Amino acid sequence: MENSFPHHGKTLTRENLLPLLRATDADLSALYARADAVRRENCGDAVPIRAILEFSNVCANDCLYCGIRASNPDPIRYQMAAADIRAAARQIAGEEIAGTIVLQAGETPGASDDAIAALIRDIKTDCPALAITLSVGNRPRHVYARWRDAGMDRYLLRFETSDAALFARLHPAGTLAERLRCLRDLQALGVQTGGGFMIGLPGETVETLADNILLCREFDFDMIGIGPYIPHPGTPLSHAPNVYADDPDMFFRAIAVLRLATPLAHIPATTAFDALFSDGRDRALQCGANVFMPNATPRPYRRAYQLYPGKPCVDEEALNCSRCVQHRLHTLGRPIAPGPSHSLKMKSDSHVLNPDS
Ligand code: SAH
Repeated sequence: MENSFPHHGKTLTRENLLPLLRATDADLSALYARADAVRRENCGDAVPIRAILEFSNVCANDCLYCGIRASNPDPIRYQMAAADIRAAARQIAGEEIAGTIVLQAGETPGASDDAIAALIRDIKTDCPALAITLSVGNRPRHVYARWRDAGMDRYLLRFETSDAALFARLHPAGTLAERLRCLRDLQALGVQTGGGFMIGLPGETVETLADNILLCREFDFDMIGIGPYIPHPGTPLSHAPNVYADDPDMFFRAIAVLRLATPLAHIPATTAFDALFSDGRDRALQCGANVFMPNATPRPYRRAYQLYPGKPCVDEEALNCSRCVQHRLHTLGRPIAPGPSHSLKMKSDSHVLNPDS
């Protein structure tokens, strides 16, 4: 397949992207090797570490696939106290492994917005060198602006699928257009923005996957998080298998093609890869991904934040995860990137230089 990679970045069209998503055998190894080379040229070998703190599983939404959806009675609901979140951030900063804290939670719009602004401010005061990424769903633009003013550096909000009809079926409370509006608002505010999607949602096709990748490129996201959809027993989709259940290479093809299409994006090896394969995140890092996100949630809460079953490390302590990441990356021959590892696109992005609100 040596001649199958004349294109990457902007010149990769839908027509030459689709065959890559169907690559098999020898072509597949060549695809992974090419994606790994594009990752090395554009991002280098050093791996930025983002410690993820799942600070609350309270959620008002009812996304059909998600284990912490409001109508699932099973998870014990928790909300970490601000002082505990702050202490966790100080611990992360003190370890000097992760240069970023990712604060992720379910969605309680309105009620918690001011508390989140105060939290961002406190963490920035305590740990000025730590970049702060937030991931708490859709909000009006003025709330994102307030969080940015408090010190938020980045925001993660997957669009989940580029198929508007499928999006509507999976999200009783929202539309794809509204999700994309949030992403545009974040970009206009000069916040480093991460989009992304799940791979293999019930009802999607390979064409959907191609369009998901193309939508990521159109948005020119700073970060792109993608991972396999995994059916959760406590949801209406419990019996709806991943459409690629019989072709698990598709999850890695998706990472590789995404790297070819968006060479400068930070692409994490997401946790869901480890839920399906014991070495899933390591393999993702070898076929296009460049970022690692160890779990920094205190152990008592980890079991209660299961978006999908099989999530790794639920019995580990936060400190063990940062040791484990050092070991895993060492085995792969990949050093840890020092500092916050901001967007690789920041210098050329005019909206970062002229944020409006
Ligand atoms: N409330 C935040 C965080 C959501 S959880 C938000 O909406 O942005 C983070 C991601 O987990 C989601 O965006 C979704 O892509 C993924 N996720 C949720 N349920 C999943 C499942 N069953 N399988 C795989 N990924 C899932």
